[in-house]
Amino acid sequence: MAKKQFKAESKRLLEMMINSIYTQREIFLRELISNASDAIDKIYYKALTDDNLTFNKEDYYVKIIADKANRTLTITDTGIGMTKEDLENNLGVIAKSGSLAFKSENEAKDGHNIIGQFGVGFYSAFMVADVVTVTSRALGSDEAFKWESEGADGYTIMPADKDSVGTEIVLKIKENTEDDQYDEYLEEYRLRAIIKKYSDFIRYPIKMDVKTQ
Ligand code: ADP
Ligand code: MG
Repeated sequence: MAKKQFKAESKRLLEMMINSIYTQREIFLRELISNASDAIDKIYYKALTDDNLTFNKEDYYVKIIADKANRTLTITDTGIGMTKEDLENNLGVIAKSGSLAFKSENEAKDGHNIIGQFGVGFYSAFMVADVVTVTSRALGSDEAFKWESEGADGYTIMPADKDSVGTEIVLKIKENTEDDQYDEYLEEYRLRAIIKKYSDFIRYPIKMDVKTQ
């Protein structure tokens, strides 16, 4: 008898994942930094075989900007970026990992450090954010796109402006409630501690900027 494929209620699945896959909220930052690092690694690997591309180490970094007044935490990278299709395929499909695909396509070049594989880490951002906005411009493209979502309800993609190749992720940090504290994710000391705990091994610089006004 032919086997039937499981179907999934994707909205419920995403809700479940956001709320129960991770025991600790703070790991959202590890996930976003590892994605940023993967995106830079991808340029690094491309540069190995593409003579038109040079990899100047000083051009590649991750930047974290906490803005208390606007309650936003921004994670920027100068990595490979995403096209409109990439945004659709990698952020619009749960458990789809562009990084895993990249790894298998680039298997011949060993020594890679690409971390991503399960295609779910990104969504951990919704544990601390009401809205996640991803603006990205892919390597080799002069167009940028903005992906925006409030979680399980879905997402939008629209054209955007971005001067340089890479990705900017803006998290609108949730308001504190009686039971849950989110303010800490806008505090420099707290962010530094999380980075130290989980992202110490990242090979690219992680810069931090805190706006207090
Ligand atoms: P994983 O990292 O396990 O692949 P994620 O859910 O963390 O899964 O991310 C899904 C995919 O989205 C990644 O595989 C990658 O293709 C893409 N992606 C996420 N963040 C970025 C980024 N900052 N730059 C480029 N691509 C990204
Ligand atoms: Mg990831």
